[in-house]
Amino acid sequence: MKPASIATSPIGPPLQEVPPRASAPEVSFEFFPPKTAKMAASLWDAVQRLEPLGPQFVSVTYGAGGTTRERTHRTVERIQKETHLTPAAHITCVGAARAEVDRVAHDYWELGVRHVVALRGDPPEGSDHYRPHPDGYANAAELVAGLKRIADFEITVAAHPETHPEAASPEADLDNLKRKLDAGASRAITQFFFETDIYFRFVERARAAGIDVPIVPGILPVTNFAKVAKFGAACGATVPDWVDSLFQGLDEDSETRLLVAASLAADQCRRLQVAGVGKFHFYTLNRAELTLAICHILGVRPEADPLKAHALQ
Ligand SMILES: Cc1cc2nc3c(=O)[nH]c(=O)nc-3n(C[C@H](O)[C@H](O)[C@H](O)COP(=O)(O)OP(=O)(O)OC[C@H]3O[C@@H](n4cnc5c(N)ncnc54)[C@H](O)[C@@H]3O)c2cc1C
Repeated sequence: MKPASIATSPIGPPLQEVPPRASAPEVSFEFFPPKTAKMAASLWDAVQRLEPLGPQFVSVTYGAGGTTRERTHRTVERIQKETHLTPAAHITCVGAARAEVDRVAHDYWELGVRHVVALRGDPPEGSDHYRPHPDGYANAAELVAGLKRIADFEITVAAHPETHPEAASPEADLDNLKRKLDAGASRAITQFFFETDIYFRFVERARAAGIDVPIVPGILPVTNFAKVAKFGAACGATVPDWVDSLFQGLDEDSETRLLVAASLAADQCRRLQVAGVGKFHFYTLNRAELTLAICHILGVRPEADPLKAHALQ
């Protein structure tokens, strides 16, 4: 049987068109606050291994339902105090009155944290839909406006290339993104996606709607296919059959799975890079190796590396 040609790859155009190395992109990394001492050890290992790549910022998530406020704060604080990284703290609207959310934001500002990722947030596990707190911020746009009233934070928000599942229409969702930017956000990071066309079509629609801030692709290296499929179904991100087939038969073979995941994400990023994308946000899942490998392929090297110095000239 003739193998499928790479030219027909559903990810995008053939890799042969990728030039040897475009200039190194700007990257940012996302971590989640650890629950246990063991998880904390792997987070700090990942932070230390990724720090030399000089990310623009590293962000720390806020658990679904607003469940990790203390842990998120401790993680952000440690990054702020013990590394040279710029932390960005995720803040959500879920399960808290405005006054509580405002206090969290004040505390971050006092700590010297100037960048926040403002989100509506997902409902807690077991609850299938979002209900705003009676005294809370109803959505991310309100939260952005509230945060800007507290201090002049740099604010990043979420964008949904395949439309947020609760939006009335793709147009209404884009209007919502616009409201978040009009309220003071200056960057959007996308929900994960696999097919580069999804990203490009979204950016085209956003630019046509007058949105001119960076729309940074959120890249999710697949470490656990079943989880990604479940998460994709919940957040409206398509997980195509061809991605499923890449991971079939690898449930018990984590080593090969990792190699396939690196190859898939690197391929996706290179295709975005060659089309002119110069910023990437990585959902690291607190692991260094995949993000390191992909960044390396994209030309992002430790600051002292002559390759990076060359690329920055
Ligand atoms: C980069 C990134 C990081 C994330 N980090 C976290 C995290 O740390 N913690 C967490 O819990 N979740 C996180 N999420 C998930 C996010 O909370 C969910 O996707 C959530 O369901 C939507 O968040 P949002 O900020 O986009 O919401 P919003 O922008 O408020 O939009 C939510 C929905 O409401 C609709 N909507 C908003 N305002 C209006 C209005 N006035 N009228 C009509 N419709 C409206 C929108 O169209 C959309 O359908 C993250 C997502 C991304 C992409």
